[in-house]
Amino acid sequence: MSGKLSHHLLRLPRRKHISIVVPFFNEGDGVEIFNAALQTVLAELPDYQFEIICIDDGSTDDTLDRLLTLAQTNPQYHVIELSRNFGKEAAMTAGLDLASGQAVIPIDADLQDPPCLILQFVRAWENGAEVVLAHRAHRDTDSYLKRKTAAWFYRLHNHLADISIPQNVGDFRLMDRCVVDALKRLPEQQRFMKGLFSWVGFKTVVVEYDREPRAFGASKFPGWKLWNFAIEGITSFSTTPLKIWTYVGTTGAAFTILYALFILLRVLI
Ligand code: UDP
Ligand code: MG
Repeated sequence: MSGKLSHHLLRLPRRKHISIVVPFFNEGDGVEIFNAALQTVLAELPDYQFEIICIDDGSTDDTLDRLLTLAQTNPQYHVIELSRNFGKEAAMTAGLDLASGQAVIPIDADLQDPPCLILQFVRAWENGAEVVLAHRAHRDTDSYLKRKTAAWFYRLHNHLADISIPQNVGDFRLMDRCVVDALKRLPEQQRFMKGLFSWVGFKTVVVEYDREPRAFGASKFPGWKLWNFAIEGITSFSTTPLKIWTYVGTTGAAFTILYALFILLRVLI
């Protein structure tokens, strides 16, 4: 009888476990604001158990202290401190590595990724989606220059690379455990996450949203950093730039050899 009972208890539905992964770089002023906004949304999902993994990406302000204070009172919080600023891609990778949920949601700390979308993410996941993408309906909150350069980047990248990355979709998404496990098996050291996310594939559903301006602080991606990031994206998934320079190099070398032969013959003759 007792054996039967414990067997029965084991089969009771357990709360599903979801991880939220948040990279923080000098976002001290926003830690509490972020937490308040997130908790409002999580309160609407009482049937799920959440862990919130915060990665302090070498902040020089009080971000880490504030995260640790939060973690003291809220057991959902787990804080990872990186030894220096490694960049958002590395911070997210660290978070994905440690996330233990059956689904994982990377989200920015500055509330540009509206937490209320998590409700739609979870619904789509429960309906069978393995990836739920947040697609920006428009880019009105970006400057003209950022809109243009982003459009050029997607065009160039998707033209050159073997995989295409969806336009106007950031890192904010839900991924099922099977997707995260596939990502973790990729050995890349320099991780252009947008590309890797697309590369692994899986059954994908898209939800539309409006991206708000930053709730606090300033962007951590100045122009030159974005430029390098774009180059990283293209060279990570395409050998075309390498081929171009191979052709340019070979042509140059061939001309040089011919010209040297010409001079040699002229001297001899
Ligand atoms: N971030 C990070 N490391 C960095 C730069 C940014 O962890 O070196 C985090 C940042 O704290 C934020 C997210 O990545 O949570 C997105 O950064 P940001 O909002 O500055 O980028 P933008 O929205 O301007 O593209
Ligand atoms: Mg932002």
